[in-house]
Amino acid sequence: MSRDPLQKQRIVILGGGTAGWITANAMIDSWADQAIDITLVESPAIGTVGVGEGSTPRLKLFFDAIGIPESEWMPQCNATFKNGISFVNWSTKPGFERYFHPFPSQTDQFVTTGFYFNSFARRRGIDVHAHPDRFFLAARLSENRQGPKPDENFPFTVEYGYHFDANLVGKYLQAIATRRGVKHVQAQVLDVKQAPDGDIAGLVTDSAEIIEGDFFIDCSGFRGTLIQKTLQVPFRSFAENLFNDAAVVLPTEQVEQIGSETVATAMKHGWAWEIPLTSRIGNGYVYSSAFCSADEAETELRTHLDLLDSDTEARHLRMKVGRLEQHWHRNCLAVGLSQGFIEPLEATALNVVCNTVYDFIATVDADGFGETGRAAFNDRTSAGFERIRDYIVAHYLLNTRRDTDYWVQNAQNRHISDALQQILEIWTTGKSLNQEIERRQIQSSYTEMSWYCLLAGYGYYPDLRQVPGDEKYAGKVDMNEIDDFVRRCAMNFRSQNEQLQQ
Ligand SMILES: Cc1cc2nc3c(=O)[nH]c(=O)nc-3n(C[C@H](O)[C@H](O)[C@H](O)COP(=O)(O)OP(=O)(O)OC[C@H]3O[C@@H](n4cnc5c(N)ncnc54)[C@H](O)[C@@H]3O)c2cc1C
Repeated sequence: MSRDPLQKQRIVILGGGTAGWITANAMIDSWADQAIDITLVESPAIGTVGVGEGSTPRLKLFFDAIGIPESEWMPQCNATFKNGISFVNWSTKPGFERYFHPFPSQTDQFVTTGFYFNSFARRRGIDVHAHPDRFFLAARLSENRQGPKPDENFPFTVEYGYHFDANLVGKYLQAIATRRGVKHVQAQVLDVKQAPDGDIAGLVTDSAEIIEGDFFIDCSGFRGTLIQKTLQVPFRSFAENLFNDAAVVLPTEQVEQIGSETVATAMKHGWAWEIPLTSRIGNGYVYSSAFCSADEAETELRTHLDLLDSDTEARHLRMKVGRLEQHWHRNCLAVGLSQGFIEPLEATALNVVCNTVYDFIATVDADGFGETGRAAFNDRTSAGFERIRDYIVAHYLLNTRRDTDYWVQNAQNRHISDALQQILEIWTTGKSLNQEIERRQIQSSYTEMSWYCLLAGYGYYPDLRQVPGDEKYAGKVDMNEIDDFVRRCAMNFRSQNEQLQQ
C-alpha cells in the first residue's frame, strides 16, 4: 500500500501502554499537517505492564521533539533526573566491586584520552589507575546526589535520562495525545479481521464494533496480538544468552536526599534495581526462573530491602526476551514489548520504542507505507536489538561471582555473537577498540566510551606484571589533576532535590 497524499490514512494503534502513547504522540506531532487519522484502542481490563521506570537520554529528545517541557511533565510523573547506572557487586575483583556507567557529558572530552591511555596500559598489565569512575563527571554527580543540569555559567552540556512512574507517564502522554487529536477507544479487542490479501482490515471489540484502518500499530505488549498472533511473524528468543525471564517488584519509601542514578545490584540469581522517584523508590529483582522460584526471589529481594516483616505486596512478572524477525510486516508495525524486549539492565526499552517510531516515520516520509523502505527498516531495527543484546550479555559474561550456578553459567556462556567475541578479543590483545567499533558501526547503540567503561569497570584486565619500559606509562596521567578537574566541574551542579524544585 503506497501512500496517496490526498487520501486520508487511518492508523489504528492497539495498546495504551507507554509504547502506544509514545507512538501516538510521535505520529500526531510529526504528521500534524498531513491527512492522518489516529485511533488508539486499549483495554483497561487487561491493563499495562506497569514497570519501566528508567530511561536513557533518548527520552529527553522525545519530549523535546513533541514540545513538552520538563517543568510540565516531570512533576506530574514523579520524575527525577538520572546520570547513569551503578553496577554493584557484579565483579569480585578488588577495587572493581562497583562501577558507574555514565551518560556522556561535554567535559568527558578532557578526560577520556587519559582514561583510554590508562586502560590501554592496564590491558598490558601495567599498574596504573584504570577504573572509570574517577574520570567521569556523571559518576561524581551521582555520588554526590547532584542533578545533571549545570548552573548557567557552566558552558558544557551533560546528557541525562529520567526516572519516572510508568503509569503516570502513560496517563500524561494520553492526555497530550488526545488533546492533539488522537481518538481514544477503551475496549478489548477480541478478534482481528484480515483482508483477502492477508493485510489487517479491522479490530473487533467486545462491544462488537469494528475499528477499521489502513495501517495498524501493535503496541499490545508481550501478547503481540497483531504481529505475532494474527500475522504469525516469528519471534527469535535470546534465552540462550540472556537467562533472566522473570521479575518481582516492591516499592520502598523515598529518602530525604533523592539519588540521581539507578543502582543495579547483583543478587544470587540476577540483579536488583533501585530507581529513585520523588514519591518512592522503585525496586525490583530480575532473575532467571530456571535457577530460583518466585518465592525465593521475593524473599531474597525482601531481605535485600530489609522488608522481610513488611506487608507491602510484591508484584511478580514474566518476561519474554528476544525480538521479532520483522518489526514491520504487511500493514502492521510492532512497537514496544510486542516487537521484543531485552531485559532492563540498561533501561533501553523506551529508547528502542522511540528509535523504532521515529525511524518508521522517516521511512514512511521518504518511501510511503508500502514495501520500498520496509526491508531496510526491519534490518536497522533488528540490528539495534542485537547491539543492545551484546552489550547486556557482556555484563553477564564478565561477572566474576562464583557463589551460585547462575553466575558460573553466565560466565561460561559461549552463545555470544561474533561482534561481541571480536570486541573481547580486541580488548584482551591490546588492539584498538575504537577502530573495531567504528568498523562495525555499532556506536549508535553504545559508544566506545560505554564499552571502555564496561570492560574497565569489571576490571577485565590481566594480572599486573612488570613490563620493560613501564616508566613511560607510570604517572603520565596525573590522577590528582583528573580528580581536581572533575571536582571543579561538579561544583557547578546543584543537588537533585534542588534541581527538581527549580
Ligand atoms: C521487569 C521490567 C522492567 C522494565 N524496566 C524498564 C526500564 O527501566 N526502562 C525501560 O525503558 N523499559 C523497561 N521495561 C520495559 C517497559 O516496561 C516497556 O517497554 C514499556 O512499558 C512499554 O510497554 P508496552 O506499551 O509495549 O506494553 P504494555 O505496557 O504491556 O501495554 C500493552 C497495552 O496493550 C493493551 N492490550 C493488549 N491486548 C489488548 C486487547 N486484546 N485489546 C485491547 N487492548 C489490549 C493493554 O491494555 C495495554 O494498554 C521493563 C520491563 C519489565 C518487564
